[in-house]
Amino acid sequence: MKRIYEPYAYSHHPIERCFWRTSVEEPNFPRLERDHRCDVVIIGAGFTGLSAAYHLTRDGYSVALLDAQQPMFGATGRNGGFCCLGGGKASDNRLDRLFGKDERLLYRAAEKEAVTLVSQLFHDLKIEADVQSHGETALAHRPKDAKAFEDELPRIKENYGVDAILHAKEELVQLGFGGCFFGGMTIPIGFGLNPRKYASTVLEATKRQGAAIFGESPVLSVVKNKSGFELSTRQGTVRADKVIFATNGYSSEDLPRWLHSRFMPVQSSIIVTRQLTDEELSAQGWTSDQIAYDTRDLLHYFRLLPNKRFLFGMRGGLFATDEAQSAISKEIRQNFSTLFPKWREVEIEYEWSGLACLSRSQTPYVGKVPEMEGAFAGFAYHGNGVAMGSYSGALLSDLVQEKQPQTPYPATMRTVPPRFPFGRYRRHLMRPLYAYMAWSDK
Ligand SMILES: Cc1cc2nc3c(=O)[nH]c(=O)nc-3n(C[C@H](O)[C@H](O)[C@H](O)COP(=O)(O)OP(=O)(O)OC[C@H]3O[C@@H](n4cnc5c(N)ncnc54)[C@H](O)[C@@H]3O)c2cc1C
Repeated sequence: MKRIYEPYAYSHHPIERCFWRTSVEEPNFPRLERDHRCDVVIIGAGFTGLSAAYHLTRDGYSVALLDAQQPMFGATGRNGGFCCLGGGKASDNRLDRLFGKDERLLYRAAEKEAVTLVSQLFHDLKIEADVQSHGETALAHRPKDAKAFEDELPRIKENYGVDAILHAKEELVQLGFGGCFFGGMTIPIGFGLNPRKYASTVLEATKRQGAAIFGESPVLSVVKNKSGFELSTRQGTVRADKVIFATNGYSSEDLPRWLHSRFMPVQSSIIVTRQLTDEELSAQGWTSDQIAYDTRDLLHYFRLLPNKRFLFGMRGGLFATDEAQSAISKEIRQNFSTLFPKWREVEIEYEWSGLACLSRSQTPYVGKVPEMEGAFAGFAYHGNGVAMGSYSGALLSDLVQEKQPQTPYPATMRTVPPRFPFGRYRRHLMRPLYAYMAWSDK
């Protein structure tokens, strides 16, 4: 597997102190050690692969689901648990220019539908995953961003058909949003969840429906021949009619070769405090259970978990090594203390990081792997893949079955993203971008 970060990023080190791992037992699926035959083989057992496997087995297909580590090892088992709108970074103007207004609206409908899909899964599978928050709240880190919220209201109405609610600076503490913020806006779509509880329930259901699930089975090659695909791991093979690549930020440059340079893995890091007392919560003025983020380009995302621990996340970091992790660790604490000064001294008990994924087109891709008939891929949710990854998996299930998707499948998601320049050194493109974002966030 040719991957573009240091081996540290793909090891267990970054998740040794992941809070979610305390709530769900680590899965222990066997290695693939034989020759297996099925209709569809899926590489990568995160939200994308799991959702595809769940929907395909529900429709009667035989499926093998393989992960290089164990299911949920990737971003799926270690994210912030924001089940929300998003999935791309492209602005409305950009989408209108490239695809037209109708396709932009279809894409926005897909974002909303993705959240609905997760709610539906919660209902169908009776998932209990510590759900909280009514929609998602954006908090202005500068007065001008609070003003800009007003201009966004018509755009939100047009895109999502809902009325966002504005919060004046003076109301924030009363609403439980005490921190260094200048105003807020709540979009009433989305909720918070425990990602490992959600993913593990879908995993169990998929297993019950008959999927063959293999852990510690990195797929090393995928060969297309007359009878379909042959995938090899170190000790076994899978033959299948169709294949889905669901490896997102953990993808390799050569699996399939078409993917090389079309994805940009980027790091995101999270800290979780010890349980806060009621006095500490009111001292800071943060008592809300809303999932929230600030208006920085290099955004911070945060939420008070149901057990009164505070989760705080941040994007950024070019290198994945012990030293780089120490630097990120310092930076994330500093940022946390700046935004929530009353909690400066509160102990951080959990801390971890992982890889999300961008595309050059700033939109997710869900569709065929060109020139590899029968192969499909879904990736690049721009750090918002809890809902969009799940949705992508459901779409992939339809595509594999050659069914017309009954949910929005816009051109923005069907269009193959171009390659980033600089090949395997491309992450260095993020250096000037991060610097620009930090400058423009001032
Ligand atoms: C710290 C962090 C916080 C985030 N917070 C949020 C959030 O709050 N809300 C939100 O919506 N999104 C969030 N995201 C993004 C979200 O988690 C991802 O978009 C989503 O989990 C992607 O799911 P996936 O299944 O496509 O990929 P992943 O979950 O990354 O899974 C890919 C899997 O592929 C496997 N794999 C790779 N190569 C091979 C191979 N050759 N053979 C077999 N298996 C292989 C990997 O082991 C991995 O398990 C966050 C991401 C990070 C890193």
